[in-house]
Amino acid sequence: MKTIGLLGGMSWESTVSYYQAINRGVNAALGGLHSARLVLASVDFAPIEAAQHRGDWDATAQMLVDSAQSVEAGGADFLLICTNTMHKVAPQIEAALSIPLLHIADATAEVLQADGVRRVGLLGTRFTMEQDFYLGRLRDRFGMEVLVPEAAERDFVHSVIYDELCRGVVSDASRACYVEIIAGLQAQGAEAVILGCTEIALLVQAEHTAVPLYDTTAIHAAAAVRHALA
Ligand code: GLU
Repeated sequence: MKTIGLLGGMSWESTVSYYQAINRGVNAALGGLHSARLVLASVDFAPIEAAQHRGDWDATAQMLVDSAQSVEAGGADFLLICTNTMHKVAPQIEAALSIPLLHIADATAEVLQADGVRRVGLLGTRFTMEQDFYLGRLRDRFGMEVLVPEAAERDFVHSVIYDELCRGVVSDASRACYVEIIAGLQAQGAEAVILGCTEIALLVQAEHTAVPLYDTTAIHAAAAVRHALA
């Protein structure tokens, strides 16, 4: 079994989901008392979030490169960045490591492609929904057509992530709004919706909507398990 490297803490609420899903996945495959071999570096999210919102992506890259190098030094064979948004600086992190990166958008697009989904809705932070590092990758590398909510809805989705989910707050009112936004994406033609933020599955699950959901946390964790056991 390979050793999985996790760069977490963004937020720690979703790193818990990764830790659980990866260990459960390894145990499901190997049985008994088997669990994952992994190295986790969990950052302090506050300075990263502050740098994101002032647009200082170089500062976020520097912080994450330092932590990613500690994961590699700890013996990891490959790395997962446990957030969609911070894949914005994936190229800088990749360049600073000699172990490979398992990219969250690639893992997600491969599952969508296998399921025959081509036109997909995307929920995430404003950075993920509006900038090219994520949308562009889905479009250019995988030929996907990606739909995002309108501006006011994007603001709402973004603020629920930072003001509620990353702080461990899960609210029925926010869930109802998310479910409506998901339905709106389907009405625009989305065949499915990507939960493109690693905390969203804490709020919305398959039982809340008839629209097929692709949870990037679960998909990324499952890809890590496959890779570790291959
Ligand atoms: N975990 C979130 C994501 O997947 C947002 C937190 C962050 O800004 O990294 O995008």
